[in-house]
Amino acid sequence: MSVFDNLVGQEHVIDIVKKAVAATRSEDAYGDISSQEMTHAWVFTGPPGSGRSSAAIAFAQALVCSTNGCGTCKACRSASSGAHPDVEIIRTEGLSIKIDEVRELLTRVAWAPSMGGWRVVVMEDADRLTESAANALLKAIEEPGNRTVWLLCAPTLHDVLPTIRSRCRHVQLVTPSTQAVAQVLQNRDGISPVMADFAARVSQGHIGRARYLATNESVRNTRTTIMKLPLTLKGISSAFAAAQTLIDLATEQANSESEERNQSEIDDLSLAYGKGATGRGMATGASKAIKELEKEQKTRSTRMVRDGLDAALLDIATFYRDVMMVQAGSNDSLINKELEHQITTYAHNTKAHTTINKINAIMSARINLNHNAAPLLTIEALMCVLAR
Ligand SMILES: [Zn+2]
Repeated sequence: MSVFDNLVGQEHVIDIVKKAVAATRSEDAYGDISSQEMTHAWVFTGPPGSGRSSAAIAFAQALVCSTNGCGTCKACRSASSGAHPDVEIIRTEGLSIKIDEVRELLTRVAWAPSMGGWRVVVMEDADRLTESAANALLKAIEEPGNRTVWLLCAPTLHDVLPTIRSRCRHVQLVTPSTQAVAQVLQNRDGISPVMADFAARVSQGHIGRARYLATNESVRNTRTTIMKLPLTLKGISSAFAAAQTLIDLATEQANSESEERNQSEIDDLSLAYGKGATGRGMATGASKAIKELEKEQKTRSTRMVRDGLDAALLDIATFYRDVMMVQAGSNDSLINKELEHQITTYAHNTKAHTTINKINAIMSARINLNHNAAPLLTIEALMCVLAR
């Protein structure tokens, strides 16, 4: 078993990372690594769900594990859970990573690794660094501390500031094939072949989403509702109704995912201040801390709604993609086989050039949402285009 087993369809990435890890083991008596395979700053890019952060975390595990990433020892387990003293995993709950957070991180990683090996920083959303935060980080990457490795993750190289990416080695992950994803769902998660095929197909190589769909009925039901929205679009009023449905679904899902977590975070914090359990008035410090936490939770919810909308728009795009395939005369590679009849009818009643316009409109809406456009307005405008 190895930490690299989890990387589906990324053999070339595994090869590069393993060579780098091997190079660190062959350093000379002065701690110098002569091989070019290892470097102190890396950027992992790849489409959502291809596993760029999993790849970076596996790399971190292999660096701190005494057997190059066995996946089972204490070092491997604590590195992936964020409990290893020499491995920092930076995940963003907010919409951006601010300069204060980077400064704080730089203070934490300033000293030498405690276990005598490597200190590894995995930044999962390097694309969310603000410009000032990225510049603060740049300084650290330019003058690497002794035995610190930076592993930045982003959707594409363009999402990383040029000054930073020019100092990093680039590793590109690819979208795994539907078959590879289905195989993993069957072998590792014990999911039935039919369900594994469905989940892998509609998730388009996004393995996390495929697993989530395959194991969660309410998520499947939500998806079914979303996929039928294009069929309901017949005029302006249906467009506004569909927009509202989409916003409601994304909000509902974000709420159900965060409600329990938010409350337990508040309980933990109250307990830490020693007041929550008694129910008497809170100390000023405690109530201030809780206000701060609630603010953070609100930011996180906003991001979750936006992420949910983005996923829904990608799903809807597969509907029009299938329509386009039928209009081009190719019925045999539909993503949404379950809707083949409706998609075929829709394709015959509309024109190919309007289908392309609709797909473009969906992609523009995703970009606008990503730039913090108002969700309801953006989705309403989009649905009006799709209803044409
Ligand atoms: Zn290990």
